[in-house]
Amino acid sequence: MTERASLLQRCYQGWANIPIRVLLTVPFMLQLVGAVGIVGYLSDRSGQQSVRELADQLTQQVSLRIHDRLTIYLHTSQDVVAANYLAVQQGTLDLKNFEQLQQQFWQQVTLNPLIEGVLFSNEEAEVIAYGRFQSEEIVKESEKVTGENLSVGMPFFYSLKSNDLGKRKYYLVDLKGNPRKLIYTFKIDNRIAPWYRYGKAARQQTWSPICVYKILPTLGIYALAPIYDATGKWRGVFASDFTLAALNTFLNQLKFSPSGQTFIMERSGNLVATSTLEIPFVKPALGEPTRLLAVNSKDTLTRDIARQLTHKFGNLSTLQTTQQLTLMSNHERQFVRVTPYQDRYGLDWLVVVIVPESDFMADIHANTQRTWLLCGLTLLVAAGTGMLSARWIARPIYRLQQAAEALAERQLDYPVEISGVGEVARLTIAFQRMAHQLKTSFRSLQESEQRFEHLLHNVPVGISVFDSTGNQILLNQLGETILGRGNLPNLSLEELSAAYQIYQAGTNQLYPVEQLPVTQALRGETTFVDDMEIEVKGERVALEIHAIPFFDAAGNLLYAILAFQDITKRRQAERILTDYSRELEHQIAERTQELQRSEERFRSAFEDAPIGMALVALDGRFIRVNRSLCQILGNSQEELLTKTFPEITHPDDVATNLEQVQRAIAGEINIYQVQLRYLHQQGHIVWALVNVSVVRDSREYPIYFIAQIQDISDRYAIEQMKNEFISIVSHELRTPLTAIHGSLGILESGIYHNNSEKFNHLISIALNNSDRLVRLVNDILDLERLESQKTELVKEACEVTDLIEQAVETVQPLADTAKIHLDWTPLAVSVWAAPDAIVQTLTNLLSNAIKFSPAGSTVSVKAEVIEAKDSNREKVRENTHTSLPYILFSTCDRGRGIPADKLETIFGRFQQVDVQDSRHKGGTGLGLAICKSIVQQHQGQIWVESLWGTGSTFYFTLPVQPPAE
Ligand code: ADP
Repeated sequence: MTERASLLQRCYQGWANIPIRVLLTVPFMLQLVGAVGIVGYLSDRSGQQSVRELADQLTQQVSLRIHDRLTIYLHTSQDVVAANYLAVQQGTLDLKNFEQLQQQFWQQVTLNPLIEGVLFSNEEAEVIAYGRFQSEEIVKESEKVTGENLSVGMPFFYSLKSNDLGKRKYYLVDLKGNPRKLIYTFKIDNRIAPWYRYGKAARQQTWSPICVYKILPTLGIYALAPIYDATGKWRGVFASDFTLAALNTFLNQLKFSPSGQTFIMERSGNLVATSTLEIPFVKPALGEPTRLLAVNSKDTLTRDIARQLTHKFGNLSTLQTTQQLTLMSNHERQFVRVTPYQDRYGLDWLVVVIVPESDFMADIHANTQRTWLLCGLTLLVAAGTGMLSARWIARPIYRLQQAAEALAERQLDYPVEISGVGEVARLTIAFQRMAHQLKTSFRSLQESEQRFEHLLHNVPVGISVFDSTGNQILLNQLGETILGRGNLPNLSLEELSAAYQIYQAGTNQLYPVEQLPVTQALRGETTFVDDMEIEVKGERVALEIHAIPFFDAAGNLLYAILAFQDITKRRQAERILTDYSRELEHQIAERTQELQRSEERFRSAFEDAPIGMALVALDGRFIRVNRSLCQILGNSQEELLTKTFPEITHPDDVATNLEQVQRAIAGEINIYQVQLRYLHQQGHIVWALVNVSVVRDSREYPIYFIAQIQDISDRYAIEQMKNEFISIVSHELRTPLTAIHGSLGILESGIYHNNSEKFNHLISIALNNSDRLVRLVNDILDLERLESQKTELVKEACEVTDLIEQAVETVQPLADTAKIHLDWTPLAVSVWAAPDAIVQTLTNLLSNAIKFSPAGSTVSVKAEVIEAKDSNREKVRENTHTSLPYILFSTCDRGRGIPADKLETIFGRFQQVDVQDSRHKGGTGLGLAICKSIVQQHQGQIWVESLWGTGSTFYFTLPVQPPAE
């Protein structure tokens, strides 16, 4: 790990240890303190800003009001003089007509209460004027003189006419402005007054310089309209005075802030008016009063500000635009607005408005204090609620943490309460769900682990797992058993061979580490080795090892997995197997030679066999034929091999053979024998007895037939001749025999009474023998007819019961004579048969049974229906080929029985078990041959089962249905 990474890790662990309550509260508090601080600071700043803006607005408003008021006051005076001047110019006012002037002035004074005084003064020192009482002192003085109640603002009249000897007279006036009472008289000459001279010099409407009134402790100013006539001659001046004390009063009454002040000064710095009501002039004990410079004001603020302004602008006359300033005075900030006030009559003043910051800041400070207090309170409350809510949030999280730790320690049933709100509650629910799923997963993991462990320890191979560093981390039980040691951890790969005693097979050399399967697997290779041996308890164990590398999804090698097994026994078995194989090879070679010899023998036996032999394909083609067959058929081998079995067979016999072939292919029979006619190369017929057997493969599929063909033409010819001979003889014998038999019968009946005992005995012998001879001849003829098919058996559906009953009735007298009990069972089934022939067959079998049974025994006859091949009867005769369903007839006796070697032959002609039988039992030896012929012509079969000495049972079968054509 790099230094930086470990530092980061330490930092992270440091952070991770901080409780969530602190994490939730401290940043919250810090933010809050920050926010509150910023809000406080900003509100302070904005307070100051607002104060500044407010002060600006206030001073601006105050300046405007002062300007307005100055305009009203001062312009009133100028308007009055202008009006009078205009009247004179227009000729409506005559300067000589003092009455007219008086009226004009009275109107103006009456109409406008702001007019303090209006006068006309001329070069003759004449004056006519109206004025107003301007102060309480003057009012009181005048009251004393006149004895009347007067008031400030009340108009009075004064005039000085040429005849008044330079004395100006002041009068109280009546309602029309007429003088009614003289108040006092002064000697004043206006012509020497500065304002008069200023007006005269000005030659245009103007303001007089500010002067200090003599009578009043105030400053005043005159609006002057000098009048010259058309010739430029001086006529006098209209004047309207204005007492600047009114401005002082106005400024004083202008309550715009608790300590705010205003003052007006001229460009020279002389005070014009001030809100402090300070008298704006200095009256020395001696001499004329002088104007007061603002910089010398007794009022500290006025003085300070005036000085700073003078200092700032040097000459006040340079100050042409409104100035908004912040100056210091009395150790506090003062907002100062200086506005020039000028009019077209030459007035040029500076209006100064001062607002101390403290006037606003008191509230602002109070507000700021409140703000800080509220901030503090908010901070406390927020901290409290923050801590509470942090606790509130943290507690369920803490519980969740405990639950999670419990889960991590696999305490799967640790309870998780649902508490908290919002996301925390949802988190708890999700945690609960997760815990449940974890629980399920843990369980299935445990099960899976158990399964895995079980599997691992029960796999039929040894399993060993190495981690990527080559350390063995797992070895299963079978592995331990095979290796004879448990897991040896902390071994390096180099130590492995020595520790486990791993050798190269068949040597004493330790297995090289580089070739160890684990080494190769750790290199990422999949390997298989079987040349390894391990020494366990002094014995060598051969091992076979598969090793595979195991990677994670990113392709990093995680493990090497080894599966190994003990192949010692297999090795031994392999050795034995090798020996055995060698032996086997040897034996096979010998057998092959033997087989070749046998093959040779078979070939020569086949080739040289005295009877015809052929291998025939399933489709009838010849595969191989021998010499004898070629001789029988008159063909060469080559010719025969191009032919088929049916081609060489007589057309009438093809079907017979084909039927058997099909049964053999179908697996119903394996061997059959037929007598066939073949067509010789030269055109004549060859009679042959053919034995055919089917050769099958390992799966029982038929491959080909082996046929043995015996030329029986000669035998057949002899047989024919014999048959013909017997037939002829029999025919020829029957007529005389019948006559002899009839004669003997008559003689035996005793009709001729010549019956001596001896004669009768001889007659009886003759009759018996002729009787036997007739039977013999009849049997021979019967058989001959049957076999030559001269008599066709006419088949019909007949009742089995009837057939048996008829036969039983026929043999009943015989049975009675022999004292044999006949037992028979009816079967109400019809069978397709020639009834007489079947009765003859049954009769023959029953009479044989009676003949060979001891007296008192029972002979039984029965029939049953066989519907399926696997029925019990079927087991009796495996090769029954009668088509199903069929009737199985059987006759059973308890007689002498038939020896095993005769069971087949007795169905041949003249075949008897004992040569005495014909004599003792009166048989011909042809009965069973006739039976066989009859049954065969019904497509049935006949056979006998017998044990010598215990009795015999003869069976024959007949199909129930006529064969399908
Ligand atoms: P036969 O006219 O001689 O009876 P069969 O052909 O009927 O001629 O019988 C042939 C021979 O079979 C008999 O001679 C006898 O030896 C033997 N045989 C037939 N039936 C029986 C039987 N039920 N028990 C013992 N032997 C019998």
